[in-house]
Amino acid sequence: MKTVLITGAAKGIGRATALELAKAGYAIVINYLTSAKEAEELRKTIAETYSVPCLTVQADVSKEEEVERMIAEIEEKLSPVDILINNAAIDLPNLFREKTAEEFRRVLDVNVVGAYNCARSVCRGMKERGYGRIINISSTNGINTYFPMCFDYDASKAALNSLTHDLAMQLSPEVHVNAVAPGFIGTESELEGYDEEFLKEEQEKILVKRYGRPEEVAYLIRFLISPEADYINNAVIRIDGGQKGSV
Ligand code: NAD
Repeated sequence: MKTVLITGAAKGIGRATALELAKAGYAIVINYLTSAKEAEELRKTIAETYSVPCLTVQADVSKEEEVERMIAEIEEKLSPVDILINNAAIDLPNLFREKTAEEFRRVLDVNVVGAYNCARSVCRGMKERGYGRIINISSTNGINTYFPMCFDYDASKAALNSLTHDLAMQLSPEVHVNAVAPGFIGTESELEGYDEEFLKEEQEKILVKRYGRPEEVAYLIRFLISPEADYINNAVIRIDGGQKGSV
């Protein structure tokens, strides 16, 4: 049984991915930052519903020492990590002029350095064991910018796409590294703070005329880590319902 670590997995896309991969028979590690209650509830649901091993581990992925401690804890309590899903991220939705350099740094620290910290901690073991898969949860914002709200988030996801390519080259052939780039997925954190009218307008720009569901991203991740996807490496794959004006 392969062990999957999903960062920021207590809610949203990470949670849906944990459930989908548990259903597919993987041992699951739920990393969380502050959502201890949600993480524990998810662990219980997984353990009871799918009878696969499931562990929760608290760590701030942006902090190198916390990530190293987390990986050591997973190895001690469960097994080495075979598959890493870098899902944890933050998005601070205020305007360009209102943002500070400190906020910009924090976004890069979590969304890019966090993914790097986790990849670095697990990649040596993956190489030695001759198998590993890393999926970075990027965004279409890293391909097209999302003016005028999210320059820092956009930059972080563009950097994550670049990191995906570098890691794929560094870690081949044993470890495959791909990124998934969702468009508008209707998670709680994505919808909060926007009014109905704005959400309607955004929906109109999507060719299938609806937001994606977290489970739909999870299905793609399940496929990408399966043996059927063994020839997919170093790719950034959009999942956005088709967006007007983008190719
Ligand atoms: P979410 O906010 O529900 O999930 C992100 C999780 O990361 C949260 O549980 C949060 O607590 C955790 N986290 C934040 N900082 C952390 C840290 N330092 N260490 C550990 N965990 C931390 O958001 P979501 O919508 O489920 O998004 C999940 C991923 O998908 C993110 O990478 C996001 O950028 C990406 N994404 C989401 C959408 C969307 O429309 N929802 C679109 C494109 C990309």
